[in-house]
Amino acid sequence: MISESMLTVAYLGAAALFILALGGLSSNDTARRGNMYGMSGMALAITATIVAHVQANIGLLVSMMAIGGIAGFILARRVQMTQMPELVAILHSMVGMAAVLVGYTSFMDPAAPASGVEKVIHEVEVYLGIFIGMVTFSGSVIAYGKLSGLLGGKPLLLPARHSLNLMMLLATIVLGVLFVQAESHHSAYLPLYVMTAIAFIFGIHMVVAIGGADMPVVISMLNSYSGWAAAATGFMLSNDLLIITGALVGSSGAILSYIMCRAMNRKFLSVISGGFGMTVASSSGGGAEQGEVNPIDSVEAVQLLREAGEVMIVPGYGMATAQAQHAVSQLTRLLQQHGINVRFGIHPVAGRMPGHMNVLLAEAKVPYDIVFEMDEINSDFPDVDVAIVIGANDTVNPSALEGSDSPIAGMPVLEVWNSKHCIVMKRGMATGYAGVDNPLFFKENTRMLFGDARVMMEELVQQIHD
Ligand code: NDP
Repeated sequence: MISESMLTVAYLGAAALFILALGGLSSNDTARRGNMYGMSGMALAITATIVAHVQANIGLLVSMMAIGGIAGFILARRVQMTQMPELVAILHSMVGMAAVLVGYTSFMDPAAPASGVEKVIHEVEVYLGIFIGMVTFSGSVIAYGKLSGLLGGKPLLLPARHSLNLMMLLATIVLGVLFVQAESHHSAYLPLYVMTAIAFIFGIHMVVAIGGADMPVVISMLNSYSGWAAAATGFMLSNDLLIITGALVGSSGAILSYIMCRAMNRKFLSVISGGFGMTVASSSGGGAEQGEVNPIDSVEAVQLLREAGEVMIVPGYGMATAQAQHAVSQLTRLLQQHGINVRFGIHPVAGRMPGHMNVLLAEAKVPYDIVFEMDEINSDFPDVDVAIVIGANDTVNPSALEGSDSPIAGMPVLEVWNSKHCIVMKRGMATGYAGVDNPLFFKENTRMLFGDARVMMEELVQQIHD
């Protein structure tokens, strides 16, 4: 056992480590250190909580922690980089479910305040915690389905969906009043159960209504909700550290949602109310009316590269699925050895999670100082001799700037078509995540290098060596 003041000191230390972790995670070169801070903070928080609070059932606690720890360890070891977004979504759902379970047990706890203001405050905490937790849970499960391809990317828009949302929100408020004013503890269960069911449907409805290209906002929003769910759990358990940690996750997720919205030129409220993506002209081959595509082989592509002075590499989701980052890094070094200036242009929503491309390039040891955000380099394309698009599609789609009825309309994209030559590396003519045809493939200065990104990259490396 440790004293309350020792526990407070340990919690303050853990909170400081979490803040350092967030600071570290803000850039690639300090991210590893940031993770170490986060892990140390969590180890300190768990140890201090157990030592201070747990007097009984230690065996049960340790075995549950061992089961959870081993499952997490195996999952983290096995997960492919391409499955990370799904993993993150499913982990968010667990935070949500934890808040729901803590909410119910906290309400059942015989030691909970039985009367007066304290009772009301506790019940409001329980009610909000369960509501946020359940929305996070069901929303994240649907996000998992969409990211893993189990569910389609198109938004499902029920008629009168806004009225339905409003009705569910109003019902939640009315049920909340009934819950807090219930005559007996026993009769408070019914409004709680009904609200839980409504929150479950609300979470599903909110995420199914959002179109593919807007998923980044949903991911960061659910990340934020999972933080608020943890903070609500902290209030229920009167645990200051959980409140602080939840608020840190909640607010950083909210900031990330804002950044994602800005990157996609969307308003948060219009994304959340859903509907983008309805006018999808989905096609996996079409485009006949758009003109001819102009293929290129690796020999000719290398010739173009050898003659170039400025090369810009634009990676997308296809680089992640093909695991082409190491070959890309190799090609970069070879081109640099030939005196060619190579830079990377990264779209904020490229891939399937925030920072996806940066993580892959860092893993393949591409130097950070040649990796640029879209805003930093988008105006440089006219000076670029060859732009190489590796498995990117929506993030280089000119129709985002031209058409107004496209699901990605208004989203800023990397303007690769302004470079002298543009080589697009992908397996076929399939659309990207948003399901929109891409006129880039039919532009005069675009050459299509068809094939798996990794195989084609390795071919380019081989050709440059020869
Ligand atoms: P896209 O998803 O638009 O396109 C990827 C392209 O890669 C496909 O058209 C596919 O074409 C090609 N591809 C797939 N596998 C391979 C392979 N093995 N080798 C070569 N090419 C391959 O990618 P972007 O990165 O441009 O855009 C990301 C999209 O995902 C955006 O719509 C974004 O909104 C959304 N999104 C982003 C999230 C984030 O947080 N970053 C989260 C959720 C969604 P083909 O099959 O013909 O090869």
